[in-house]
Amino acid sequence: MNLQNLTISAVEKGLRQKDFSCAELVAAYLARINERNQDLNAFITVAEKSAAEEALAVDRKIAVGEKLQPLEGVPFAVKDTLCTHGIRTTAAAKILDNFIPPYDATVIGKIRDNGGIVIGKNNCDAFGHGASNENSDYGPVKNPHDPAKVSGGSSGGSAAAVAADLCAYAIGEDTGGSIREPAAFCGVVGLKVSYGRTSRYGCMPMASSLDTVGPLTKTVEDAAAVMEVIAGVDQYDATTLPEAVPNYRDELKKGIDGLRIGLPREYFAEGLNEEVKSCVMKAVAACEQAGATVEEVSLRHTKYAIATYYIVVPCEDSSNMARYDGLRFGARVTNGDSNDLLRVYTQSRASGLPAEVKRRIMIGAYALSHGYYDAYYLKAQKVRTLIKQDFENVFEKVDALITPTYPGLPFGIGELVDNPLAMYLADVLTVPANLAGVPALSVPCGKVGTLPVGAQIIGPRFKEDIILRIGRAMEREM
Ligand code: GLN
Repeated sequence: MNLQNLTISAVEKGLRQKDFSCAELVAAYLARINERNQDLNAFITVAEKSAAEEALAVDRKIAVGEKLQPLEGVPFAVKDTLCTHGIRTTAAAKILDNFIPPYDATVIGKIRDNGGIVIGKNNCDAFGHGASNENSDYGPVKNPHDPAKVSGGSSGGSAAAVAADLCAYAIGEDTGGSIREPAAFCGVVGLKVSYGRTSRYGCMPMASSLDTVGPLTKTVEDAAAVMEVIAGVDQYDATTLPEAVPNYRDELKKGIDGLRIGLPREYFAEGLNEEVKSCVMKAVAACEQAGATVEEVSLRHTKYAIATYYIVVPCEDSSNMARYDGLRFGARVTNGDSNDLLRVYTQSRASGLPAEVKRRIMIGAYALSHGYYDAYYLKAQKVRTLIKQDFENVFEKVDALITPTYPGLPFGIGELVDNPLAMYLADVLTVPANLAGVPALSVPCGKVGTLPVGAQIIGPRFKEDIILRIGRAMEREM
């Protein structure tokens, strides 16, 4: 039996039909991780023991004819900023090198309660700060399509692991593009959900008003399958809303005949790589083929999105990062003088926090300081409202938008590391959806040479079903 390249539905079916056992399946993934991870660096921790034990439990259930839950027995990987009960969770930062969470993030708990098997924890940019996975204390992740290129970030290990078939799917986190950009770079599907659609509880916070937890999968149908399990209200995250969770897989069957799709002019502007553009336009043509209508639209305030994001995010970040002080969380460095509280704080933070985290703490603390708050933070919040209104207005006219996920091809390892501003610009097409709280899906739409290209589909808040339908149509027609 070939245990390669299985989608979630193929795993579920194979287990049910006893084509393979769960133990065999887990062993196959662990063998591939063993073979490829040294090179790709997609995992920081591999949960060999617990995964093998949990697989046996699933096999015992199958043996006695018990019905399997959705995602039961399907091995998945988890970005290392999401807490996993009993499995080391470092956020890719040495300050948390020894941290073993005493609980699961809600999203992970929901999957594990159903019998989903955590195969390991994915490398990422430390605390989710980055767009290339090079800001990791555990080294960069290589792109499975070209080892000289970055995997994208911050959920780079998750995207690479799905692309290289080291897990069936992964759970990542997206504050400004961290699921979609690596998904585009590695040629997999990545869904950034609406703010409030999935719980953030147990996901290490970066910018609390933008962070979202969502899936990276091999197919759109798989993303729909994961959403059915992870979406919904959570008493531990007051920003989740009690909207009904659709049966996303059933929704896919509706197709997209008659849907109106907008192409926002500002996302196809100067600087967009022509070959990337032509891949995205093929995906648009596929949607027309499937019955959608397409028109040009405008989101006027798009050009302010990066500047707004890089004020709002460091402000929230600087407060969220305060917990890593060597006392509440993180390795304590005392250099012999543990009675001096200030020294414990400064030494632990100075030696334990990565450079990009420090940069954000400084920018955030500055922008929030007396005299600057109005000029930076307050102003950014006002522009954020304008960006949100752009989306509300455009969704009166069209059902969804299609854009490139990233304006170029995956860049080289080392190419942007010394240029933080250029790295921030990598998020130009992904941050508006986070600022507005709307869902966005990246779907592979072709390759330039060996390198994958992603099309981004953005929809109205809580309309994940619509963007998944469009993504499915693209996959089907291309
Ligand atoms: N590149 C963005 C940043 O560094 C994305 C982060 C994210 O989505 N977690 O802020």
